[in-house]
Amino acid sequence: MLDLIGRFVICESPSDDRAAVDRFVDLVCDTLAPVARVKTVSGGRFGRHLVAEMKLPGRKKSGQILALGHSDTVWPVGTLRSMPLRNYRGRVCGPGVLDMKGGIAFFIFAARALRELDLSVPSRVLLQLNSDEEVGSVSSRALTEENARRSHAVLVLEPGTGLEGRLKTARKGVGAFTVTVRGKASHAGVDFQAGASGVLELARQIERIARFTNLSRGITVNPGVIAGGTRSNVIAAEARAEVDIRVPRLRDGAALKRKFRALKPFNPRCSVTVSGGLNRPPLERSAAVRRLFRTAHTLALELGIELEESSSGGGSDGNFTAALGIPTLDGLGAVGEGAHAAHESILINRIADRTALLAKLLMAG
Ligand SMILES: [Zn+2]
Repeated sequence: MLDLIGRFVICESPSDDRAAVDRFVDLVCDTLAPVARVKTVSGGRFGRHLVAEMKLPGRKKSGQILALGHSDTVWPVGTLRSMPLRNYRGRVCGPGVLDMKGGIAFFIFAARALRELDLSVPSRVLLQLNSDEEVGSVSSRALTEENARRSHAVLVLEPGTGLEGRLKTARKGVGAFTVTVRGKASHAGVDFQAGASGVLELARQIERIARFTNLSRGITVNPGVIAGGTRSNVIAAEARAEVDIRVPRLRDGAALKRKFRALKPFNPRCSVTVSGGLNRPPLERSAAVRRLFRTAHTLALELGIELEESSSGGGSDGNFTAALGIPTLDGLGAVGEGAHAAHESILINRIADRTALLAKLLMAG
């Protein structure tokens, strides 16, 4: 397993490098070939999405389980030079090992184990790996939803939470707004009063927008990027802010959208326009999600693991499937720390139980 994880990690696959992602997808296709019928689907300007129908023991399949992951990482090609693949103090370290090449390897080994031990799996099992998850899943979302609609459960191979590997039974919805202010340019010395500053107006709008955050309800609003103006001696004609939003419930997203749309200029000589909205709906901790977690909890106890659950502020493709009402269990992949960070690593002593848990979940149907 360490060998396969290592081969996955050294095949770098950043979302914005289509050729690199395709090379990784080819590697996964080759690895899956003996155990699945594999096809790939165009991802447009991104790499190809992979859909594999697993060949698992058991006649008479009823229903379908979708295992969901992504082939892309946040790390540019060449990251290995400063962040090499290595085994260190009981961990495998390297770009993308936790998010989420480890989880992909676990799933493949779970399928192999089921075949080698001839353990029956009652459902059809599909593995889908998207090539654009780290950049919002624009090109894969429809495919994810199509395959999820035919499934009675979705298992997401994203990493668990913390060094305990807690599963994710709730994820916030994620959105983005762009707020554009248009004012009127003029000479800051000669004709000051003729101008209407877009920068000043935006500063006021940002104060207002930041107050949309409601920490006790888990709603966060972050004006993360601002831009505007041309020179210090010109009253700025235009300014813009890009704002990230996170909401635990779908209705919080709708309420925020209304608030953004209702923004009015403080200075009547400026205009404010807003675009954007929710990109990923929240994964809400529904009764169906809780049931699926209880099943996993029971199966993990047989492996000597007391599974816990967690909620995350980050989104995954599981957000889309849960929003369709399909029971979705997320965070079933590797256990480690440092996703998207220089110390990204997975715990070697948690590889076996995570793989076994995936196999058991497939057997439980
Ligand atoms: Zn991920």
